[in-house]
Amino acid sequence: MPTGSCICGAIKYSFDVQPSAKVSTHTTPEHSHPQDTLRVITHTPLNHQCLCHCLSCRRITGTTAASVALIPKADFQTTASAESVPSFRQNTITHEAGMQITYVFCSDCGTTCWKTANAGWPDQIIVFTGTLDDASFEQFKPDAEFWVKYRAPWLESLEGKGVAQVQGFPEA
Ligand SMILES: [Zn+2]
Ligand SMILES: [Zn+2]
Repeated sequence: MPTGSCICGAIKYSFDVQPSAKVSTHTTPEHSHPQDTLRVITHTPLNHQCLCHCLSCRRITGTTAASVALIPKADFQTTASAESVPSFRQNTITHEAGMQITYVFCSDCGTTCWKTANAGWPDQIIVFTGTLDDASFEQFKPDAEFWVKYRAPWLESLEGKGVAQVQGFPEA
């Protein structure tokens, strides 16, 4: 079972599903077409993983791009809450696409652990995979890049490696 936490360990979580890619296995990098891959993802929105280059992820995580995994809320467990963990915080912002994004972070160590969105994927926990424990993190492999127009100009695209290139968010 994948597990993760903030860097001080106050906020812990786990989930029952593997954040495995749902891209069709017979789609090879040589023959994949970004639209085909996007269509597959669109029809199987659960559990998929991506690098998100959006401006909100960049700012929230303080990094070049966010690596995230979508986990159905029913499969996600945490005992951390504002009541149980003194450093548990959440903050809601308006994403540049207009939806409300609520992200959870630890006020002691500053780690942002996951986020939720009120539109697009309302039934998903969007885990920042850098907070996964090592063995769980190593299972991470993105199947898409979102908001590629904001990708850092010096960062190489993963196009052609089975990673869909998506402008904005795909349809959920
Ligand atoms: Zn912490
Ligand atoms: Zn993002």
